Amino acid sequence: MDHAVQLSLSETFTSVQGEGKLAGVPSWFVRFSGCNLRCTWCDTPYASWSPEVTTRTLDELLAEARDVFSRGVAHAVVTGGEPMMFDAVEPLTQGLRALGMHITIETAGTIVRPPTALACDLMSISPKLSNSTPREGDPRDPGGVWRLRHEQRRLNVGVLNDLLASFPGRQLKFVVSEMSQIAEIESLLETLRGWSRGDVLLMPEGVTAEAIASRRWMVDVCVERGWRYCPRLHIDLFGNKRGT
Ligand code: SF4
Repeated sequence: MDHAVQLSLSETFTSVQGEGKLAGVPSWFVRFSGCNLRCTWCDTPYASWSPEVTTRTLDELLAEARDVFSRGVAHAVVTGGEPMMFDAVEPLTQGLRALGMHITIETAGTIVRPPTALACDLMSISPKLSNSTPREGDPRDPGGVWRLRHEQRRLNVGVLNDLLASFPGRQLKFVVSEMSQIAEIESLLETLRGWSRGDVLLMPEGVTAEAIASRRWMVDVCVERGWRYCPRLHIDLFGNKRGT
């Protein structure tokens, strides 16, 4: 392993996991900066729309992880942006595995890497629905270049099936704002193999307590289908605040 390899990050921090099957678990987060998508509601624009980059070496990062691990935080969350865009995700996850950490990778599921190269205990896949596409006239997207690119890239059924086949620890996390998106999720699930109902999580779109509360109808949808409701603990606890 080349310990001098450079990683383009926006931040590292320690908190509790806010979303998904491991919500509430103390975790060390490492956030890559840069994304191949541009979700209209992206809550980490500093890693997508306006990427802020700090360069760190693998050695520095693993030293930080070792320190956190020695204080009892055994879970690492590799997130972004889109961490799967970066070759450095492979040595990073292998290094975290060598430390003994549990590794979650948070991805939109448009890029796959071989399980022999990537160490991952929970592949947290968040396929992007049509509600993610930037609106026409979005001032962040003059000329609509990203609107088109996002729409072309946001769903890749072949990659999603490869991820599901390659990583037995997985969850499918959907950001939902309207009832109409449930049919969209169901038709996507029909094309995917190897998932179980308990792997499907619905997460309310929104970064305020009011927006999240307005999506309580999603609880009934989950109960009817055997899916999970996905909390956003970090919003409940800290609001839409970076580094939480
Ligand atoms: S995939 Fe994630 S990081 Fe990228 S734009 Fe969408 S929400 Fe933001």
